[in-house]
Amino acid sequence: MSQSFIGFGILSVLFGIATGCTRPQSGTTAGITTTTLSHDFFITHLAPAQAQPFTDNLPKENLDCLENIKQVTCYSAANVGFDPKCSKELATPEMINQFYAIVQSLPPLHKNILCHINRVQIQSMVAPIGYVSAITNDSQQTIGLMVGISQLALAQESKVDLFSWKEQLNFGFSKLDDPKHSVSKDGPTIFISIQKSSNSFLQYVLTHEASHLVDYLNSANQLDCLWPENTSDPKALAKCTNGENSFGAVSWPREYNIAFDGTGRQLPQLAAAYPWLMQMCFYSCGPTISPTNVTEVYKELSRSSFYTAYSTVNEYEDFAEASTMVLTDKNLLKYQVLSADKNILFDVSEALTNSEHRQKQEWITNFYAKPDLKFKF
Ligand SMILES: [Zn+2]
Repeated sequence: MSQSFIGFGILSVLFGIATGCTRPQSGTTAGITTTTLSHDFFITHLAPAQAQPFTDNLPKENLDCLENIKQVTCYSAANVGFDPKCSKELATPEMINQFYAIVQSLPPLHKNILCHINRVQIQSMVAPIGYVSAITNDSQQTIGLMVGISQLALAQESKVDLFSWKEQLNFGFSKLDDPKHSVSKDGPTIFISIQKSSNSFLQYVLTHEASHLVDYLNSANQLDCLWPENTSDPKALAKCTNGENSFGAVSWPREYNIAFDGTGRQLPQLAAAYPWLMQMCFYSCGPTISPTNVTEVYKELSRSSFYTAYSTVNEYEDFAEASTMVLTDKNLLKYQVLSADKNILFDVSEALTNSEHRQKQEWITNFYAKPDLKFKF
């Protein structure tokens, strides 16, 4: 093959068409290789020795939602990713029931996806709050879909403010390797509430995660990165293209370059329009944004077409956040960023009225109105 389609260590893809060429991969252990599309969105390739037991243990067709979730849920003490040691015995009925209860509150397509999911890993220790992965075999065929969710996020009375912790990473107020996920009182905090929800936090997270699977199954994003062949030159550039009518084409350049070694994308138009937002780094921070610029960051967000700061990470996160915001009843949803002295720095309900959002909102609404969207692989 003369060319290959693949990802940046951070982004990737030609969805639906796996080329079998040399994809850059982020980790390989015992027959399990993970390609990272985004912080919480992966493709897991299983070698035959791992794929066979996975496929053999999938429940038979036509189970009801709760029964399916019961059969596919396990508890993992490992970090992010497909865990062959994930224990069914250690997944408690409380965990399973809490997960199931939130699934019932999701938008119809998202509920359907998680009712038909092939693996749920409750994670004792996980950096992203939740994540999803497609599972593929040696022939690059999809053989399953999985979701991982932090045990902390499942707890009804979580004392840990994971959303604020995640936001504060950008400014150095919180630390990625802090097992307590501590939030600084001097940094911005996120307030999310979905009225009538038994767990707003988890409902938001699972809508976001299932949206990545909507994207995977239905090619909302069509991001195609063409990598130079036969070179190990770290300065070599890959050329990425967002498909013409794809979601990514709404807010992202149709074409841009990324470094061969996966560091940094070249998005000069976006960097010129949103100098602060393009410095947001979340789970991959090197230098962080100075705390003195917090207000500027959220001013910029308020006049942008991005629903949240996390939307600016890449096309995949943009789709997941936009889906969550548009599909959750806006009369019930409250999403604000508050300053240390509790002033509102950003309120999504105000941002939604700006004209920048109109095109994106329309794209999402039209997309979810399609009658034939896939909910399983
Ligand atoms: Zn995500």
